[in-house]
Amino acid sequence: MIDDVFCKIIVGEIKADFVYRDDDFFVIKDINPQAPVHLLIIPTEHRLNIHDFKDKEALLGRALLIADKIAHEMKLENGYRLILNEGEDGGKLVPHLHIHLLGGKKLGPKIVK
Ligand code: AMP
Repeated sequence: MIDDVFCKIIVGEIKADFVYRDDDFFVIKDINPQAPVHLLIIPTEHRLNIHDFKDKEALLGRALLIADKIAHEMKLENGYRLILNEGEDGGKLVPHLHIHLLGGKKLGPKIVK
């Protein structure tokens, strides 16, 4: 069985700090924040990656609009950064699609290590 912490959060098996929830997505604070604001936009239904949205393009698009809405609510007027890691080379640790929303300070240069 896949060890998916986000599915455990959805069913309440693991606690999380929710900032938004609707039928399709929820947004939580990252447990190991890399910026003053570090949130994760996560689909409620288990989908591993972008490829799993090929029959649900509009739903994937909604994730970006939710991120932008939350960013405005968090008063990130100076901007923010979205990151989506895919696969081992992309540095993905949790096998459930999620988009990182980072902001609240001037973020560093986008260096690929
Ligand atoms: P990624 O490398 O893109 O898979 O990032 C996974 C993210 O999930 C990391 O930034 C972790 O800090 C975060 N994370 C892991 N477990 C939890 C949790 N229980 N609650 C909130 N965030 C978590």
